[in-house]
Amino acid sequence: GTADIGVTGLAVMGANLARNFARNGYTVALHNRSRGRTDQLVAEHGHEGEFVATGSLEELVASLAVPRRVLIMVKAGAPVDAVIDQLVPLLEEGDIVIDAGNSHYEDTRRREAALAAQGLHFVGVGVSGGEEGALNGPAIMPGGPKESYAAVGPMLERIAAQYGGEPCCAWVGTDGAGHYVKMVHNGIEYADMQVIGEAHDLLRRVAGIEPAAQAAVFDAWNRTELSSYLIEITAEVLRQTDAATGRPLIDVIVDEAGQKGTGRWTAISGLDVGAPVAAIAESVFARSLSSQREVREIARETLVAGVDGAGVADADREQFVEDVRQALFASKLVAYAQGLDMLSAAAAEYGWSLDLGTIASLWRDGCIIRADLLDVIMTAFGGRDTDRHPEPGTRAEGQPLNLLFAPEFTRAIADALPAWRRVVGAAISAGVPVPVFSSALAYYDGLRADRLPAALIQGQRDFFGAHTYRRTDREGSFHTLWSGDRTEVDGDGVPV
Ligand code: NDP
Repeated sequence: GTADIGVTGLAVMGANLARNFARNGYTVALHNRSRGRTDQLVAEHGHEGEFVATGSLEELVASLAVPRRVLIMVKAGAPVDAVIDQLVPLLEEGDIVIDAGNSHYEDTRRREAALAAQGLHFVGVGVSGGEEGALNGPAIMPGGPKESYAAVGPMLERIAAQYGGEPCCAWVGTDGAGHYVKMVHNGIEYADMQVIGEAHDLLRRVAGIEPAAQAAVFDAWNRTELSSYLIEITAEVLRQTDAATGRPLIDVIVDEAGQKGTGRWTAISGLDVGAPVAAIAESVFARSLSSQREVREIARETLVAGVDGAGVADADREQFVEDVRQALFASKLVAYAQGLDMLSAAAAEYGWSLDLGTIASLWRDGCIIRADLLDVIMTAFGGRDTDRHPEPGTRAEGQPLNLLFAPEFTRAIADALPAWRRVVGAAISAGVPVPVFSSALAYYDGLRADRLPAALIQGQRDFFGAHTYRRTDREGSFHTLWSGDRTEVDGDGVPV
């Protein structure tokens, strides 16, 4: 065979990736479980490039140049395993299987190990940008063995979004690292969407600004450091009038947020690796709360606000809007700080060599969180350097331990802090929930605290479970004989 790559799974994402490859000059062999999608793709878009339609995985494999590259884009989960099981007996040593769907990174780790044992390369690739991105240039986060990047990287870089001449695609790390980075991208996306939602809610319920007028506010914000795809589409959504009722569309959309699971995975993994990704987790919980329809119906009737729903005076509205903008920016930075911190924790846990500067560079375009801010974050982590691979489990030299420690972000948060505190205070006083604004602020105040009540928790743990505590003035671990004479003993039970 002579085709450059085979794509199996031609629903919207697979079809658009296949077209993207073909438009970039690659010969693409096509396969789908049911033949209809393959024929439809060729009928509708066959003129866009070189396609080879096939009716079976055997035919698909036979049509490929060696080493064979097969990209799987089927429904995540069991279907990926089903396709791998059918594909593996048809392949030869050195062939490369690419999974570009939203697979869980643990599945990717398992699949990579299984295929490696059979002499095959398995490359788990995170792809972000939805259907439009898949067609015109997504952000691509490939994992898998470094050696296989030589065979698939150039093709992926070619179809990826480009930012300032650099592809939003680079090898991020071994086995499941690509899917992990994509997962964290989605977790940050959840938080980014939620903070915009909280800002919208405050502008409406506290400042009394109607959706159409809010659209203008978000347009203006899109010309500040908040400039991003998500702010841009927020203005579009708020400006939309519902044809059926003549009301703002936002007012006829049911306020129960859906989710497909990647945000939840991020929160769960944050708990697993011990990374405090509270702002991301709160954004997942906010969606869950929104979807508790029955509970909310009862709560609406039963639970009182305890406040009169304070609004802002006309004279203060402009200041309030600016305060909300700053609170949004600060909260968003915290969500990014938490997501990146989680990547470092995961690198240590899974032995990955993750370069945060290069990872941030991949999110500058193509993906849902795309924004110029990512270029600034990239710079804060030493810029993009696709040859910089820190020792597994460590961070690259010179990179800040936390995004908030990069001088420009330390300053940005300090500048926003008075507004941020005013907004969280006003929201609480008005009875408007701002779970991510407030959780992000708690994270910030938690990090910077001289002393945390964790000392008391250690005391309690020692009291009920003899878990021992460390002292500020001496090395070692200690225990107070709480149910005895309350003297202190050291870790070996010897009185001190
Ligand atoms: P779907 O997730 O809807 O999956 C449909 C495709 O999977 C069809 O081609 C279907 O074949 C195939 N399939 C399902 N089960 C099997 C099976 N057991 N064996 C073989 N093939 C099977 O497609 P999408 O294009 O929406 O998404 C593909 C992947 O990309 C998913 O992992 C998704 O999470 C991810 N993704 C999606 C994004 C989006 O915006 N939609 C964005 C980024 C990633 P058939 O036609 O025969 O039913």
